[in-house]
Amino acid sequence: MMRLKRHFKFLAFTASVAIVVILSAFSFTAMWEDPPIIPGSGVTEIKMLSEWLPSIEGTMLDTEVYIIRGAEEGGRFLLLGGTHPNEPGGTLAAVVFVENVSALSGTVYVIPRSNHSAFTHNDAMEGAPQFFSIELPDGSERVFRFGSRRTNPIAQWPDPTIYLHPTGATLGGGEVSNLNRTFPGRENGYSTEKVAAAIMNLVLEEDIDLVCDLHESSPEYPVNNAIVFHQKAAELAIMTQMMLEIEGIDIRLEESPVNLRGLTHREIGDNSDAYVVLLEVSNPSQGRLRGKTTDELVTEGIDKYYLQASKDGKLFAPYDENGYPLDLRVARHVATIRVLLDSWNMMFPERTIFLSDVPPYEGLVDGLGTYLNPVS
Ligand SMILES: [Zn+2]
Repeated sequence: MMRLKRHFKFLAFTASVAIVVILSAFSFTAMWEDPPIIPGSGVTEIKMLSEWLPSIEGTMLDTEVYIIRGAEEGGRFLLLGGTHPNEPGGTLAAVVFVENVSALSGTVYVIPRSNHSAFTHNDAMEGAPQFFSIELPDGSERVFRFGSRRTNPIAQWPDPTIYLHPTGATLGGGEVSNLNRTFPGRENGYSTEKVAAAIMNLVLEEDIDLVCDLHESSPEYPVNNAIVFHQKAAELAIMTQMMLEIEGIDIRLEESPVNLRGLTHREIGDNSDAYVVLLEVSNPSQGRLRGKTTDELVTEGIDKYYLQASKDGKLFAPYDENGYPLDLRVARHVATIRVLLDSWNMMFPERTIFLSDVPPYEGLVDGLGTYLNPVS
C-alpha cells in the first residue's frame, strides 16, 4: 500500500512538472510570434529589411518595411519605430502610419519593429509585461508586444566587455545589442550591427531624404518630450518646434552631440545625405521611479510614485493624476511627424512628401484604438 502511494506521488509530481514545462514552452515560443499589423489602403508594397542585406533573410533580425508611395514623385521619408521595443509609443506611432496614412507625393518607408528580435523577449529583472492591449471602438482588442531595449541573446550572444565602434569610439559591451548605438553598422559584424547596416543600406539605396526615429524616455530623464536633431536638420527642427508651439504642443530641442557615436541621428546623418531627427516622449512604464509594471501602466501611464516625484519637482515632463497615457504619447509623436513634414515641404518644395489621413492630435488623445484596424 505504502509503495503504491509513493508510486502515485511520483507520477503526480512528474505530471505536474511536465505540465509546467509544456506551458512555459508555449509562453516562451509565443513571444516569437509577431502580433499582426493591419496595413491600410495607403500601403502600396511590403518588403523585408533583408532586401537591403540578404544575409539576415529568414533570421530573427528580419522585419517588415511598409512602403507608402504617392502617385507623384517627391521626397523619401524613412520612419523608424521599435528601435527600442520597450518604448511602445514609438512602435505604435509607426503602426498608426502604416494602418492609416496615404501619400499624395513622395514615398514613406515605415519599419515599426526595427530591432525585431528585441520584441521577442523582455529585459531581465524589470518585471515588465510581455504584452499589452488596446481596445478598439467595436469592442475588439489589438495586442502588442512589450519588448526589450536590447537584441535577443538567441540572436546575439555573448556581448563583448567593451564595444569597439567602427568610428574607433569605445562603448560599454552591452551597447552592442542596442540598435541605437550600433549605427552605421557592419554587414559582417554583430547581429545588431547587421540590422543597422541593413537600415543604412536602405537609406543609401533608396535615396532617403529624411529619417525620423521614434522613442520614449523616462520622465526623470532630461531628454524628454524632445526633438533630437543632427546639425544638418537644425533649421528643420526649429521650424517644427515653432509650428508645434502654435498648436499648443510644447517640445524641446536637443542637438545631437558630435562625439556620441552609434545613434541613428548621428551616424545616418554623418554617413548619408539624409536629414535625421529622433523624437522622445515621456513614458512612465520604463522609468526608474515606477512602481509595479503592469500592462495598465504601459497604456494608462498612471503611477503614484511618479505623481510624488512630479510634486517634488523631480521630473522633466508634466505629470499629474491623469498620468501620461499611450494615447497622448502616440498623439505627440504623430503630430510632431505631421508638422516635421509640413516644415520639410516648405523648406524643400522640389521634394515634397504630402500625406493624407494622418490621424489628428485630439482624435488620438481621445483614443488610439480609433486609428487601429480590427483583426478580421
Ligand atoms: Zn529609446
